[in-house]
Amino acid sequence: MAPQVDITVFPGNIVNNEFAATTTTRHAINPSTGEALPEVPVSTKDDVDVAVAHARTAFKTWSKVPFAERARLLLAFANAIEENREQLERLLVLEQGKPLGLAKMEFDMGIQWLRTFATMEVKDEVLDDNEDRIITQTFPPLGVCCGIVPWNWPVLLGLGKIGPALITGNTIIIKPSPFTPYCDLKLGEIGMKIFPEGVLQVLSGGDDLGPMLTEHPGIDKISFTGSSDTGKLVMQSCSKTLKRVTLELGGNDPAIICEDADFSVTVPKVATMAFLNSGQICMLVKRVYVHESIYDKFRDAIVEFTKTVVKTGDGFEDGVLVGPLQNSMQYEKVKDMYADIKHQGYKMALEGHAMTNSKGFFITPSIIDNPPEDSRIVVEEPFGPVIPLLKWSDEDDVIERANSLKMGLGASVWSKDLDRADRMARELSAGSVWINSHFDVAPNVPFGGHKWSGIGSEWGMTGLKGYCNSRSIWKWKKVM
Ligand code: NAD
Repeated sequence: MAPQVDITVFPGNIVNNEFAATTTTRHAINPSTGEALPEVPVSTKDDVDVAVAHARTAFKTWSKVPFAERARLLLAFANAIEENREQLERLLVLEQGKPLGLAKMEFDMGIQWLRTFATMEVKDEVLDDNEDRIITQTFPPLGVCCGIVPWNWPVLLGLGKIGPALITGNTIIIKPSPFTPYCDLKLGEIGMKIFPEGVLQVLSGGDDLGPMLTEHPGIDKISFTGSSDTGKLVMQSCSKTLKRVTLELGGNDPAIICEDADFSVTVPKVATMAFLNSGQICMLVKRVYVHESIYDKFRDAIVEFTKTVVKTGDGFEDGVLVGPLQNSMQYEKVKDMYADIKHQGYKMALEGHAMTNSKGFFITPSIIDNPPEDSRIVVEEPFGPVIPLLKWSDEDDVIERANSLKMGLGASVWSKDLDRADRMARELSAGSVWINSHFDVAPNVPFGGHKWSGIGSEWGMTGLKGYCNSRSIWKWKKVM
């Protein structure tokens, strides 16, 4: 049995398998109620220096630990999280706001991800072998990695960096978002009892902590998930020390609904994949292109489904799909988008509104009826429960419109004609393209963005190799 963590106290950062208290502390708030959550550490540059020094020392031995032993510890970590998951799921609802069912899904996925990474060995590859020489490509770990995590999926995205870094022999420091530090600190606390000192550390802090890490000369790689604007700052900062970077950034995913799409499947799936987590997922449906011959029928059906099935409320209430926006900044951003839609006079098929009778950051879903292609609601990522429906008639034209933005994270095509859908899918500029679905992810499948949606991939063997250097060994069999 793994020891149970106490989700009401956060004694310090997780440094070298100990709690490291900081001079000052801060707290986040529950976005459903506005209530203060417990105090957490605020790291300084000195705290970063100490953690990095421990990570560098730990790397010397951890990088030599055989794969089988690293996998065993990763599995033990997954098991210990599972034994604590019930209370951690509640903590995730309290800090992030998402419905409990979604918090459970995030833990299901995080645990499954770790268990899969524990089976994924990056093996040497023989590139050439003849009587004179053998050339082998090997994949040594990079060193000390840092995972910078956003506030929308703190557990899955945290574990989705910890697993690949550790299984490939790196050490890692996790920096959660100041809005959602709690579960990530608890994951580090669980790891304290499992991994050797300095292998997994967690530093919490304010807005200045990210730059301290990206600038630090003792860190070899940053794996960053967040907005495209911040991603550019991260890359700029990392260039000074030539750190490796993986950037998982914003999205504005199109879903293309063809005239023969199956309504009974498409309508509920598209609505769910648009409003899940209050629209605060990088890879949700954010623009819905509907063939003009079915547009009116589709619009009416998705409005009806959203009105009757998509319930907004506190994450602990039964049947809620849309929780609050996670923080006041995001709440104001979405309210500003709603104000722009009203101001421009776009038609609303479903008009959402801020729930002013609550202290939480709740906004109910909106569906905008065929706004102009250059409107803010089409070209910007709202990261809230609002989608535009747009009409199309010509296949080449809709693909061009789907590809026209700077973002290229995900995209989907919905049709019974799988050959046609496949042909269209191959024209879409996005890191993940789904046919008759959206937002499927798996630990063994690379995940990343085209254009401003990112650089490199996470997950899959491609993602794991992103935590490795490439070293080609040329071995001459005879000394000439
Ligand atoms: P954000 O960019 O504001 O913050 C992300 C993280 O970066 C946080 O931990 C933050 O503290 C840190 N940070 C902020 N400024 C920094 C700096 N100058 N240097 C280093 N770190 C810094 O993003 P967010 O608001 O937390 O998340 C929402 C955005 O993330 C959306 O655009 C969404 O699409 C994107 N996102 C992308 C993915 C993906 O996998 N592609 C997944 C989730 C979210």
